[in-house]
Amino acid sequence: MKLLTCLLLFVSFVAFADELDYTVARFEMMEEVQRYARLARDTDEAEFSKAVLTAMNTVERHRLVPRGQRRFAYENRPLPIGHGQTISQPYIVALMTELVEPDPDDVVLEVGTGSGYQAAVLASLVRHVYSIEIIEALATRASNDLAELGYENVTTTLGDGYYGWEEHAPFDAIVVTAAAGHVPPPLIEQLKPGGRIVIPVGHRFMTQQLLLLEKTADDEILTRQIAAVRFVPLTGKH
Ligand code: SAM
Repeated sequence: MKLLTCLLLFVSFVAFADELDYTVARFEMMEEVQRYARLARDTDEAEFSKAVLTAMNTVERHRLVPRGQRRFAYENRPLPIGHGQTISQPYIVALMTELVEPDPDDVVLEVGTGSGYQAAVLASLVRHVYSIEIIEALATRASNDLAELGYENVTTTLGDGYYGWEEHAPFDAIVVTAAAGHVPPPLIEQLKPGGRIVIPVGHRFMTQQLLLLEKTADDEILTRQIAAVRFVPLTGKH
């Protein structure tokens, strides 16, 4: 009995030490993300808002990557998540989140659920996130992981995000995390006036441009180029 108690205590201690390591690593990742932001100056501000930094510092990225990648979870780079796909670089996730100016009342559409990380960051800042993934195995895994982590305000589905999610439109913001050849017209239609879309546009396997689109009150679209990026392609039948 004593041996069993000692064993349980040891296992709990190891688990606690692991979690502490991840917390420290996440803190260091955030310092790196902010340093990167100051160097890159992709936004008008050199730094991210407090709300975005808090969200990034809260989401447990290590729980959303495959087990074999956990030790790299807080490095500021993309990581493989299987099926030829990646979880985006933390700096890019922070940048895309900042660009849509999330508000606690917002309803946001994400195209490309992947690991569920971007959805979790958005979910920490807005009322509800709808996220679409085209690869079934990833859609299932992200949906399970997000539920296990308690993100009740994220709804995921399997489908082609090129067409948006009409049923839940219009959206205050749309975040596309795969590179499209052009901005999908259904996404523009499903955006509220005053809303924002952030999307990488360009050819697969080449550098793309991260675009920020804003829909004005009279449905005019204003487009700004933000940064050169590299994303996996938006696939599907379109
Ligand atoms: N947001 C993800 C995360 O936080 O892990 C990263 C996504 S990864 C860079 C891009 C994702 O978009 C992949 O999982 C890919 O399968 C998905 N994707 C590609 N084309 C899609 C489409 N037409 N509709 C929905 N998802 C798509």
